[in-house]
Amino acid sequence: MSYTMRIGDINDIRMNVAATDRYFNEGVCYASLFTYSTATKEIIKLINKKVEIRCNCSWYKTTPNSYHVISTKIPNSDFYHTIIYKKDRMIEDIGQKKLILFIFREVDVDSHDEFSEIMDNIYNGIEDDYNFSEELKDAVYYKLYKNSSIPILKEWINYIINSLIRNRYMYTMNILSSDDDNNDKKLIGYTICCPVDYLINLISTGLKTKVISINGTNLASEPMQAIEGLDGYLNTYSEVLADRIQKGFTPRFTPNKDKYSKELINYANYVEYSRNIKLYPAQKDVIQSISNCLDNQKSSFIIGECGVGKTALAIGSILVNSKHKKKCLNIVMCPSHLVYKWKYEISTLAPLSEVYIVDSISTLLNLMPKLKSNKRNRHIWLIISKETAKLSYEERPAAVWSKRKHCYVCPSCHQPLYTLTWEGRGRNKRPIQHFMKETAFLKQTASNRKCMNTVQKWNTEKNKNEKVDCNCKLWEPFIKTNEHDISDWIKLGKQGWIEKQHISKVYYELSNKRKLTKEESSLYSALFNVVGMMEVGTFPIQRSPRKYSIAKYIHRYLKHHIDYVVFDEMHQLKAGDSAQGEAFGDLASVARKVIGLTGTLLNGYASGIFYILYRTFAQTMKKEGFEYNNENKFTQEYGVVKKTSNYRWESGIQKNKIGTTRIKTLPGVSPLVFTKFLLENAAFINQEDISTGLPGYTEIPIAVDMDEELSASYNKLEKDIRENMGNWRKSVKTMGQIITTLSVYPDQPYNQADIIHPDTGEIIATPDTLEQRYRNKEDTFLKLVQSKVEAGEKVLVYYHWTNRTDLANRLPKLLKEHGIKSTVLKANIKASEREEWIHTQLKNGIDVLLCNPTLIETGLDLLDFTTIIYYQMGYNLYTMRQASRRSWRLSQNKDVEVYFLYYKGTIQEQALSLMATKLQAAMAIEGKFSEEGLNALSNNEDIFTQIASSVTEGIKDSVDIQVFKKISVKNTKEKNVDKQVNVKPLQYLLFNFNNASKSNKTQNDIQYNMTDSLSCATQLFNLC
Ligand SMILES: [Zn+2]
Repeated sequence: MSYTMRIGDINDIRMNVAATDRYFNEGVCYASLFTYSTATKEIIKLINKKVEIRCNCSWYKTTPNSYHVISTKIPNSDFYHTIIYKKDRMIEDIGQKKLILFIFREVDVDSHDEFSEIMDNIYNGIEDDYNFSEELKDAVYYKLYKNSSIPILKEWINYIINSLIRNRYMYTMNILSSDDDNNDKKLIGYTICCPVDYLINLISTGLKTKVISINGTNLASEPMQAIEGLDGYLNTYSEVLADRIQKGFTPRFTPNKDKYSKELINYANYVEYSRNIKLYPAQKDVIQSISNCLDNQKSSFIIGECGVGKTALAIGSILVNSKHKKKCLNIVMCPSHLVYKWKYEISTLAPLSEVYIVDSISTLLNLMPKLKSNKRNRHIWLIISKETAKLSYEERPAAVWSKRKHCYVCPSCHQPLYTLTWEGRGRNKRPIQHFMKETAFLKQTASNRKCMNTVQKWNTEKNKNEKVDCNCKLWEPFIKTNEHDISDWIKLGKQGWIEKQHISKVYYELSNKRKLTKEESSLYSALFNVVGMMEVGTFPIQRSPRKYSIAKYIHRYLKHHIDYVVFDEMHQLKAGDSAQGEAFGDLASVARKVIGLTGTLLNGYASGIFYILYRTFAQTMKKEGFEYNNENKFTQEYGVVKKTSNYRWESGIQKNKIGTTRIKTLPGVSPLVFTKFLLENAAFINQEDISTGLPGYTEIPIAVDMDEELSASYNKLEKDIRENMGNWRKSVKTMGQIITTLSVYPDQPYNQADIIHPDTGEIIATPDTLEQRYRNKEDTFLKLVQSKVEAGEKVLVYYHWTNRTDLANRLPKLLKEHGIKSTVLKANIKASEREEWIHTQLKNGIDVLLCNPTLIETGLDLLDFTTIIYYQMGYNLYTMRQASRRSWRLSQNKDVEVYFLYYKGTIQEQALSLMATKLQAAMAIEGKFSEEGLNALSNNEDIFTQIASSVTEGIKDSVDIQVFKKISVKNTKEKNVDKQVNVKPLQYLLFNFNNASKSNKTQNDIQYNMTDSLSCATQLFNLC
């Protein structure tokens, strides 16, 4: 018997075999078809749309994009053989994740169908543990392994298949097969449709009841019992993990084993000669790894905190990677306050180099002949601040009017410019030249972009003249301020460009025309205005919306000239549609190689890294299935997304969803981002890595008790808020006020405004006004500062609520009363002048500097301040991290201590505790895995929301001193401690294979394994 199929309008498709599923309502899951080429094309087009399929008298509907299609031409025939089969997928059904997988196997035609016979027995409990064929086990294992992150061992598959069938999560498909005597194989198909939670439970129960085991023995959990937490797990199994990883990744450069290249040794020597700086081994390792990585990849990242010498590392990587090339053209894009630093570094660290700061399009235009010249034998480095890179310019026509020829001519070959149209048909077809007249350059079009004439050019190889296209650009940047721009071109607003000399003539012609087109009449009215103004002698230039950035100019005109582009502080370029982000994209795409530098690649959200990855690793991202606008998809896969849906409930049963699902992204990034995108492309370097001489760094939380009066008032305020909050607890507007008031009240229990609901105007709470006097926190603060100042240290004090508290007056006054000289850095001092200003203050003899940490977030080196005190703390993690390490630098000789002052039992303690947890999370993603970090990663509410909910729920977390101890770094100056001793195994591993570069084909497998070890670790930890 033979079957036919109908897909949409295409009828009578010859069908070889098909598999359908009714049990899970998946319809046609597989079909092998024979068709002519036109029908084949139609099928390919239709199958991934919403279409109806008829197969053996049954109708099935398809959903868009649910099939794979393979089509091959049958040799010596007009037929195509087309196979369609359903894609595996993961769906979310009422908040539950479900795997839907399709398994197809070919078996011998006379082998008995194990599944249908066994199935009933398993359903009915007659068969308990049927042993399935190896092929089926392989197939199921492969599917689960590929489609879920659940760690599954091959030995468990039989147990899993039995359980899936028993619970009706796996079912056979119905097979329709056209009889064919020649066929000695037949198709079997299975659908698995199973909640992910069920699988996890299944494995977990199996392990607990010892039905399945790890490594063939149920005793496997014994060593696990001895292990406390994930840190322990990593410590115990680090060798196994390391082994697995090392087998998979053959590092291009292994520190202490491989030799540095000749170029690197040269660079190190030059740096020592020129600046008297000796590169640390870890720095050389990074340079060599990045250079090796760039041999095979287009882009590479150096991720390291301030103070590891990223500038020198980037310059070195370029010089080492470019090997013998003598005249590279390199571009550095950096924040504007680092432009001069880069110039200094390049001119002292890179031999045979010329450095230019490009601060406008005209600077760049003046340099153009030099940049394109083949004769130079030095490297050229252009430094462009990211603010300049996005600066825009307009283009004006570059064509020259010839009075003699009465048309426009090319500025380069001086031949008349023309466009072509065609007349006649077939053999009689002939071109007609239209010379470019007065209005030919109103706007840029395809036909007036370049000169289309040919010119004679001497071919040095063939030793004769040749005809080549002139291709001269007929548009050039228009620079208002450039005195060289003596052209006659003026812009008439949206109507476009015209030369002054033609205005009267064109105006006259138009005014004599009987009928004007829409464009002509618009031009006419624009000219009318200009003619009026010409009489007074002024020419307006109107800004046009069509502008190009300097980065775009480089992208267009220096396309094949740029060797390396360095992006400093790359994380600031993360936005997809910002002008700076676009400039990043323009430059990245035009360079041969790209190096990205950053201290904090991740802002905590997966979306923060999406465009950076896309602009630097477009290929990898495409391979992973992301299009340029797929930011949301990326966040859903690698970030944390909270979906909230409301459902109707009827007599305890969940019914339809009400309204739409709300989606909110939360901080948190999957470690997979590491393994998939960063592992082989990034080198990580910490201050600790170059730290035979790094001072100690300690963070110390100091709890202060409130006095009785303050404590009573604070608790009353908290109680009032909670009681009167009512339904407002969800409102962000009110929560902001509440959190701020609670945070500042203990520091200033007077002059605090009522908390008022923004919509209703009702008073939620009125803070008590207490006597203005110094309390316990001031006392603790004073004692701390006194002891530090007596020890000869300078103290940096941070406070956060600049406008809500009078600390900027009160603390200096308190210090002054005790003979300590202090000053306050305010926002009105310009960012670029702050470092200088502070140095002047120090010269004037201050001991204490107070400021809001946001004022000195980046760039400033404040080596003099070896004690940092947070009198108040905001809720921005990155500000806190940057501010805390202001003075912890390689060049620092003394230990640095950071103190956090907080009132016990208040929201201040809550905030500090949460910030510390988040800090751990951030460190986890940057390569310092610790148990707390991973836990914090999985706890993904953002800080503000968590503080808010702690207020509403009355939760009080206390500060865990252990967390701070882990952040601390021991003083390693002069002790010469082997740095690897202090590093946690996995952290060390990560550091190592981040240095490694892609080297063999097993890459992908290894990445899975790596992921496995991590998720396995997490899972096993949860199970045991
Ligand atoms: Zn030309």
